[in-house]
This record gives sequence, structure tokens and C-alpha cells, in this order.
Amino acid sequence: MTAPDGVRRLLAEGRPLYSFEVFPPRTPQAERTLWRTLRDIENLRPGFVSVTYGAGGSSRDRTTDLAERIAQDTTLSVVAHLTAVGHSVTELRRIVGRYAAAGVRDLLVLRGDPPDDPRGPWTPHPQGLRHASELVRLVRRAGDFGIGVAAFPERHPRSRNWSEDIAHFVAKTRAGADFAITQMFFRADDYFRLRDRLDAAGCTVPVIPEIMPATRFRQIARFAELSGATVPADLAHRLEHARDDAEGHRIGVDHATDLARRLLDNGAPGLHFITLNHTAAALDIYRALGLPEPRRVPAAVGEGARHGVA
Ligand code: FAD
Repeated sequence: MTAPDGVRRLLAEGRPLYSFEVFPPRTPQAERTLWRTLRDIENLRPGFVSVTYGAGGSSRDRTTDLAERIAQDTTLSVVAHLTAVGHSVTELRRIVGRYAAAGVRDLLVLRGDPPDDPRGPWTPHPQGLRHASELVRLVRRAGDFGIGVAAFPERHPRSRNWSEDIAHFVAKTRAGADFAITQMFFRADDYFRLRDRLDAAGCTVPVIPEIMPATRFRQIARFAELSGATVPADLAHRLEHARDDAEGHRIGVDHATDLARRLLDNGAPGLHFITLNHTAAALDIYRALGLPEPRRVPAAVGEGARHGVA
């Protein structure tokens, strides 16, 4: 049996793991921005970059294309998100096979939400899967992937109570998940309470907290509504009354830096930064935490340079 690779190996090393989330761009201009962002990220030598999976149609091909390109053309390790939404089991197996062929070693395995109304009723594909745990099982059988799943510091918005939420999370780890990444949250205590609940359930899977820099009031209010995250009233108030974008940026970076510091000081296994394909806020938090400064990578990212993944 070979030693675990990818995210599993990095987590087993026991050092904090820093990683970044990007999404597939829709326009040539957005694609240029993304590749500049990926160059910045690559210079940090992070643990991995994750690529979100769209709600349907062509955005999904953009995810697989982008994950493949990052895996093949950069030094970055990539974690590709995958959801069960709108896919038959046969399609899911094909996508997983495509990732394996492209050298993607880690998947973030999710159920997903209804495409038209993320808070609406969830209807599985008739030949598909109902819960993320079933997709974890499918991926586990399909190959030697590192498997991540979602965790919810304020519990999943659809879970009726904590015991149900924790039981379903534990089912994902029993099905084969190796690590988890949380939903965005803004209060460290929510993360600590989740960890206590998982400890009490005997669940030891590393849970990487997701850091969303809250720099713009409208945007964060919308994200909070969609994700079920609570934005603390004082943070919301300060953002709403920020004089300009620069002040909003400072407020968001300061809040996220304090949150990240508390999490790391209290044993979080790493930080997963949402970038929205721009690095400014994530890099400012990264620097404020005193994490290693960017190093220039000699070969150009996204220009066809092929490196082995370290
Ligand atoms: P599940 O684990 O299946 O849970 C969903 C709900 O069903 C929960 O309430 C759970 O308690 C309940 N449940 C689970 N199992 C059972 C069972 N056996 N019986 C009854 N109830 C059950 N969405 C995207 O579309 N694309 C992305 O790229 C994406 N990336 C994400 C990244 C992160 C880090 C996170 C936290 C979320 C992401 N999401 C993404 C959103 C995610 O798809 C939604 O939050 C979705 O509602 C839940 O997915 P899940 O994998 O947690 O589902």
C-alpha cells in the first residue's frame, strides 16, 4: 500500500496548511485576472488551490478544464470541487475518471444546492445521489483520491438540529472523507463549538476553517443569506458605514486576520482563503498573520510551463 499523497500527506505533516479557493472565470478578461491571481498564489507555495463547481451546464466544464489546467500547467496542487446536482451516477463516475486522468488527486465532495434557488427544496437526479456521503462512497471506490467534505460551524441551514447535523457529517467521514473545509463564518467560537461537537462524536477528521474577507457590506450580506452564516452586528455596522472601498478593505482584512489568528492559536489545521479570484484581501491577511512572504516562481504560470507537483 502506498503512502497517502496530496492534501492527506500535507495534513499528516502537522504544520498549518494554507490554501485558496478560486472559481472558473466566464470571460477572457476574468480569465486573465484569474491567472494573475494564480501566479500570486503560486508564489506563496500554498498547500493547494481549490476550484468551485458550478450549478450546471457549461460552468461545470469550465471547472474541470480549469482544474486540469492548474494540475498540468502549474506547481499548484489542486482540489476540484464536485457536486451531485443534476448528475446521474454514470456521469459522476465519468467526471471522477477525467480528474484522475488529469492528475487531480483531491476532490471536495459536496451534495450541492438546487441551481435556481439555493435555499429551495432539494431534488436529486433520478439516477443520481441524494447525499454527499453517497458521493464520497462513489469517489472512494473510483480511485485513491484525497476526499474533502463540507462542514458547517453554524450547522447546515437545512439541518433541524445539531445532533442530526453532526450525525450526517460523521456519515461522510465513515464513507471515506479524509478532511473537511468549513462554510464561511465570522466568529471563532462557532468553529470551536463545532470541533467540540465532533470530538464528542469521536470524529477526528481535520476541519480546515474557510476565511472569507468581508470587505463589502452588500456582498457579505448576500453571501451570508445564501450560506446561512451570521455576520456579527458590529462588523456589519462598520462595513455598512465604511467611507470608501479602502476602508471596507481594511475592516474586512482586520476582522479576518483576528479570526484567523485565534483559529491558528487554538489548533486549527490551516486556513482556506476565499479569493473570489482576486488576491488583495487574502494576501493582506496572509502578511498580517506573518506567514511566509511570497517567493517568485521562475517559470510562468498558465503559459504552458509543466512542473511536477511537489
Ligand atoms: P450533505 O452532507 O449531503 O448535507 C446536506 C443536508 O442534508 C444537511 O442538512 C445534512 O444534515 C442533510 N443530510 C445529509 N445526509 C443525510 C441523510 N442520510 N439523511 C437525511 N439528511 C441528510 N456548492 C456548489 O454548488 N459548488 C461548490 O463548489 C461548492 N463548494 C463548497 C465549498 C465549501 C467549503 C462548502 C462548505 C460548501 C460548498 N458548496 C458548494 C455548497 C454546498 O454544496 C451546500 O452547502 C450544500 O447545501 C450542502 O452540501 P453538503 O456536501 O454538505 O451536503
